[in-house]
Amino acid sequence: MAEAQGWAGVGPQLAGRLAKLDIRRPQDLVLHLPLRYEDETRLTPIGTARAGAAVQVEGEVVSCEVTLRPRRQLVARIQDASGTLVARWLNFYPSLQKQLETGRRVRLFGEVRGGFFGDEMVHPRVHPVEAGEPLPQALTPVYPTTAGLAQSALRKLIGRALYSVPPDELLPAALLGGLDLPSFADALRTLHQPPPDVDPYALEDREHPAWQRIKFEELLVQQLSLRRAYNARRTRHAPSLRDRGGLTAALRAQLPFALTGAQARAVAAIARDLATPHPMQRLLQGDVGSGKTIVAALAMLQAAENGYQSVLMAPTEILAEQHWKKLASWLEPLGIGIAWLSGSRKKREREAELARLASGEVLLAVGTHALIEDPVTLPRLGLAIVDEQHRFGVRQRLALREKGANALHPHMLMMSATPIPRTLAMSYYADLDVTVLDELPPGRTPILTKLVTESRREQVVARVRDACLGGAQAYWVCPLIEESEALQLKTAQETFDTLSAALPELKVGLVHGRLKADEKSATMAAFSAGELQLLVATTVIEVGVDVPNASLMVIEHAERFGLAQLHQLRGRVGRGTAESACILIYAHPLSENGRARLKVIYEHSDGFAIAREDLRIRGPGEFVGARQSGLPLLRYADLEGDADLLEPARALAERLLRESPDTATRLMERWLGGREGLLRA
Ligand code: ADP
Ligand code: MG
Repeated sequence: MAEAQGWAGVGPQLAGRLAKLDIRRPQDLVLHLPLRYEDETRLTPIGTARAGAAVQVEGEVVSCEVTLRPRRQLVARIQDASGTLVARWLNFYPSLQKQLETGRRVRLFGEVRGGFFGDEMVHPRVHPVEAGEPLPQALTPVYPTTAGLAQSALRKLIGRALYSVPPDELLPAALLGGLDLPSFADALRTLHQPPPDVDPYALEDREHPAWQRIKFEELLVQQLSLRRAYNARRTRHAPSLRDRGGLTAALRAQLPFALTGAQARAVAAIARDLATPHPMQRLLQGDVGSGKTIVAALAMLQAAENGYQSVLMAPTEILAEQHWKKLASWLEPLGIGIAWLSGSRKKREREAELARLASGEVLLAVGTHALIEDPVTLPRLGLAIVDEQHRFGVRQRLALREKGANALHPHMLMMSATPIPRTLAMSYYADLDVTVLDELPPGRTPILTKLVTESRREQVVARVRDACLGGAQAYWVCPLIEESEALQLKTAQETFDTLSAALPELKVGLVHGRLKADEKSATMAAFSAGELQLLVATTVIEVGVDVPNASLMVIEHAERFGLAQLHQLRGRVGRGTAESACILIYAHPLSENGRARLKVIYEHSDGFAIAREDLRIRGPGEFVGARQSGLPLLRYADLEGDADLLEPARALAERLLRESPDTATRLMERWLGGREGLLRA
């Protein structure tokens, strides 16, 4: 890292340490808020201090010495009328020894532990005092800090900044509308220097109106930056792809089913977007099995009708090939060719596909990330679709967009079966338009979910035998071994061997990530065609795989899988009209989280409910995952806890951008400094 520049009385060395906390200007100091508070407003008699509690005691130093065993340390004894306490420091300066000379009076703040020689404090904070010195009137803030930067120093810097840079009020009461919140300056003063009468619990829980005010502003700024990014995109140019009712109508006419209401609404919204001369940026969210592929196909045809190319990118070979086959079955009767690109296709085939795409002869392409590799050129790219978008990084999605070799930006459609809770969608995805398929195609029977302990594995095997002999097909998902691919492979092979031996009357197949692409695809094709009755698999079948006749899913060591994974895996069944079941085999001992996940998946079938629970168990960090493209993450607000602030923040963001863009800019400057504008993708 480059040597930090000093600023406003802060030398380069200190500036470097502050920069680690993302503090680069006096304003940033003011927004560096306490993690928690310590109560130094009262004293605890030594005799009543209980182990485990952080307390403040005051007493006289009765002894203080450096001992060398078991290692060098400073040990002091402090006494008040009620008892004696031992305090130790493993690292100390001579100045500390001075403060602790025998006979001195000190206050110590720290956690009491039961030690071998009675109660003790390790590394307490020391404050020399005169007898009768008044106690502080306010709670003491504790800030997030970094090596080489003492709490006391940080506290002083922040206190100074609070007075030298009086914070501007950017949201006068009129703008806050119905929210009864304190002014920005008052909120900051309360949080940095809580007055004596403040409710310490409301401060700790961050429910105090002062916290609310800060969190509201933070959410507002996040909304502002997302809306700005969204608006900026609306100024770019894309081909206007009108619905000409030609190919799209022809496909609808020959589909074996009618679109659900939700699909029809999504198709209409996308058709409208595609017709505008600005790039669409839409997220199509639909639970597993809600029928996103046909929505994508209709969008691709709308582009084709206008002479523009479209691509559909999927995260796995299995899925890409399945899409390709499905699209081909729908579109070949209409005389439309589709290129298929994946890392595994033979060089000659690939080159032929590339040439057809480069010449613009073929308008539709399906593939894996092979689509974004160098040799692919798409001179007339008008629409890029990313299936299971959460499986791709921002850079890959960007690369796909950049494939358009023309001056226009392509329209983008992101599809995801990992439902994003509303709060998350509203914050982290506010720069996208979101369409939700909230309806499953008719005729699906609910999936019965069972939890079974490992000791009853035999019975599960018997059930698989009965189901398959009765004409059904089943998946058996091997235990997940995240730490080692080699072990994962071995486990998959062993599971396959045991099940094949136990079920000689069934035709059993195996797919895992290490198979060659053509082996994988041959196995999937055989399972699809009903030639295999049981498919032993790793999570390669997690996304997208669609074999309607499969009605039984067994997942071994289900407690190891994440909730989104379990939901996706379970969604591989229940796609046809037969009754479907998902058997989750789990092993003891269950971790607390593992138990919580199994309970959620057992009790819920709706993907949104599951996602909400998942968010509660894991927090938003992992959800946002690959999207962390410089997107300002929230420091103080918490999406679940502060959901009630989100809607007003969003409404105000829109109003400010319309009526007071200056205020919007100043708010963003205050919170983000020069860091906005990173939002792209
Ligand atoms: P997902 O949203 O999980 O990607 P798919 O697009 O794979 O779902 O669709 C799941 C299955 O439902 C497919 O077999 C598809 O052909 C079928 N399907 C899609 N839409 C309908 C509908 N409106 N009516 C009946 N079946 C449908
Ligand atoms: Mg799909």
